[in-house]
Amino acid sequence: MLFDPRPKSSRKELFDRERELNMLDRLVERGDPLILVLGIRRIGKTSLLKSFLEKWYGIYIDMRGIFRESDLYERVSESLSSSKWKIKKFLENIRGVRIVGVEVRLKWRGKDSISLLGLLEEFNKFGERIVVVFDETQLVRPPISIEVKNTIAYTYDHLENITIILSGSEIGLLKNFVGVENRESPLYGRYAYELVVDRFSHDLSIEFLKQGFHEVGLDIGREVIEEAIDLFDGIVGWLVFFGRSYIDGMRNLESILDKAVNIALEELDKLSRNEKLVLKAIAYNSKSWSAVRRFIEEETGFTIPKSTLSRTIKKLEKLSIIENYEFLDPIYKQASKKLRI
Ligand code: ADP
Ligand code: MG
Repeated sequence: MLFDPRPKSSRKELFDRERELNMLDRLVERGDPLILVLGIRRIGKTSLLKSFLEKWYGIYIDMRGIFRESDLYERVSESLSSSKWKIKKFLENIRGVRIVGVEVRLKWRGKDSISLLGLLEEFNKFGERIVVVFDETQLVRPPISIEVKNTIAYTYDHLENITIILSGSEIGLLKNFVGVENRESPLYGRYAYELVVDRFSHDLSIEFLKQGFHEVGLDIGREVIEEAIDLFDGIVGWLVFFGRSYIDGMRNLESILDKAVNIALEELDKLSRNEKLVLKAIAYNSKSWSAVRRFIEEETGFTIPKSTLSRTIKKLEKLSIIENYEFLDPIYKQASKKLRI
């Protein structure tokens, strides 16, 4: 069902994205070691990757909320537990891995344990290419991030049968994490193909909503659809949110928008005071560095140091919230107007 809020996990369920799937298939077929999948939040990265994996041997690891080593290995175990039968069969004979029913358990510390790297070394002997997806990797902090980076670098250099895909919503941060341009990074100088997942065009968005409503037997007017796309743009996650709310009986577009803005507001709330001030300035159409500075000074009665302002703007760009003094997501723009500072 198109309006299912969970990420899609099969190519059949996935709307469009043929170009992206073909590209990924080609890159993996030719044996690329490292691929980056980039795009703002709710644009459909996880759905694309999970659906993509349907055709390959692979594991998908969600890196959100991983703080300790135990979290990492728990996540890896979960991923292995939901992998294909042939992978599990292969794991049966590997030291440090136990299969209990459908569950895969890893012993990651002490005697006869296995590390993430050790696991990938084993996978390299699987006999077919294995794709390992790390989703939202930019969120991981040291010391886990160091282990993950070193593992990726080693895989890149030595494990020719493995393709690693890194995906993230905060594009600048993910690129920093990979650090192909940073001499200090273990991945310095490596090549990675960057696949950008973009919003749906106007026509595709219309088609998406029509099809979604059609699936549940609702025939809604062109006007409502156009209006929804004006508000939510071609950001598929918001279109699903709209469709879902509508079929659940919320027929007022304003209320659906309000609900979406409140979700965005909660997500923005964890930003720093300066970051929020800059977002508010841009939401109220400050279109240049000096306009933002003026707005903040008017709003707070304080001057903001030049270097602080520049740094804050750069950070917000790395978080993929703004670009050239524009919001990448119209709902974030609305929410930023309401930020309480
Ligand atoms: P991201 O990982 O980029 O944040 P998700 O894959 O979680 O985005 O998608 C956000 C929402 O949009 C989910 O509800 C998902 O089901 C839906 N979605 C994303 N891409 C598609 C697609 N191509 N077809 C149908 N639904 C999609
Ligand atoms: Mg995701």
